[in-house]
Amino acid sequence: MSSNHALFQRALERIPGGVNSPVRAFRSVGGEPFFTARADGACLWDVEGKRYIDYVGSWGPMIAGHNHPHVRAAVERAIQNGLSFGTPCPAEVTMAETITRLIPSIDVVRMVNSGTEATMSAIRLARGHTGRARIVKFEGCYHGHADAFLVKAGSGALTLGTPTSPGVPAALADLTLTLPFNDFEAATALFDAFGVEIAGLIVEPVPGNMNCIPPREGYLQHLRALCSRHGALLIFDEVMTGFRVALGGAQAHYGVTPDLTTLGKIIGGGMPVGAYGGRREIMQQIAPAGPVYQAGTLSGNPVAMAAGLAMLELIQQPGFHEELARRTRLLTDGLQAIADGEGIAFSTQRVGAMFGLFFTAQKVETYAQATATDTAAFNRFFQAMLERGVFLAPSAYEAGFVSSAHDEQIIAETLEAARGAFRAVKN
Ligand code: PLP
Repeated sequence: MSSNHALFQRALERIPGGVNSPVRAFRSVGGEPFFTARADGACLWDVEGKRYIDYVGSWGPMIAGHNHPHVRAAVERAIQNGLSFGTPCPAEVTMAETITRLIPSIDVVRMVNSGTEATMSAIRLARGHTGRARIVKFEGCYHGHADAFLVKAGSGALTLGTPTSPGVPAALADLTLTLPFNDFEAATALFDAFGVEIAGLIVEPVPGNMNCIPPREGYLQHLRALCSRHGALLIFDEVMTGFRVALGGAQAHYGVTPDLTTLGKIIGGGMPVGAYGGRREIMQQIAPAGPVYQAGTLSGNPVAMAAGLAMLELIQQPGFHEELARRTRLLTDGLQAIADGEGIAFSTQRVGAMFGLFFTAQKVETYAQATATDTAAFNRFFQAMLERGVFLAPSAYEAGFVSSAHDEQIIAETLEAARGAFRAVKN
């Protein structure tokens, strides 16, 4: 079997940067990525047989752990009947009914194949519905890679250091207005200046692509009020937070009702799935019910729907999210105590089963504060954890994820690794 290094060399020859999604290349933390041979529960095993406790969870979907037997069995059953039909299938109806039951702000939902497709379609709908052209997003928020969002974007785009990707026409970027997250006055001022031109404001209600930054008390309510006052649609991008920070997503956790919601990750159970939905009269603008066009060869794919529905069954078990939040707290409190003991400037944040680690003593509430943390220290910590068999997101600007497979034993093992890793950070 090939080594990680040999595979990466081959990949570099034939895949841009050796990867099919930039953050996987470890550019921001240094070194080379490992190649996963298999995944189970809380762990990944690379092609050389090394085991890693995984806090990336395939970037979010694996909230019940990898290779969950319930999800796998659903997929195995579905593939007996064929992989794709190109006609409506029953599982799509069940999926739409499940999503609309779990997220009451969604009356009607359209399935797509990724989070990017969901957000891209949602802003087309916002523009079509309002007849306005401008959209508002936040610095450091990531909504996938559609042109309109690659303006001061988070995630991998943030570590590349260009405010807007080459290839995004200036004329299009000009339509995307950006705001600093958690700043009340800036949002009010922007809406005062541009309100009648704004089709929609899109926000990660708990930004997870500039590390993990919870909204200040009342901030999401403030955005809701501004959008209502100025006739713009409030779009919650819950691709990451949906079904994770609470069963009903961040909108349930914070009690704020958006007009449109975008989903992804968990609803696919590990298969490529996204969705967008919202108020009936807005969603009825989508073709063929209405004039705003959006389509997909593989949308509502029967195998993907089976995986997603099985995952949604798992997370509806009573107490599922409360237990995840408790485990996440065990992890972040444990890390904080070790860092404090070592005298390292370190802080953590968490909402439900989503967490952020910051190499700074301050509480981080803004993008400016997140980007001012000691990323070199994070990178040393990342490498030291990796060496000790713990895989954190390979960037100081990504949230971490805990799954139900991360039991107390796994968390204790992680904290043991962290003891050595924090010491390594100091030296
Ligand atoms: N929106 C958010 C909040 C995300 O975190 C992501 C991906 O990480 C996306 C959208 C894009 O989703 P995808 O990578 O499935 O296109």
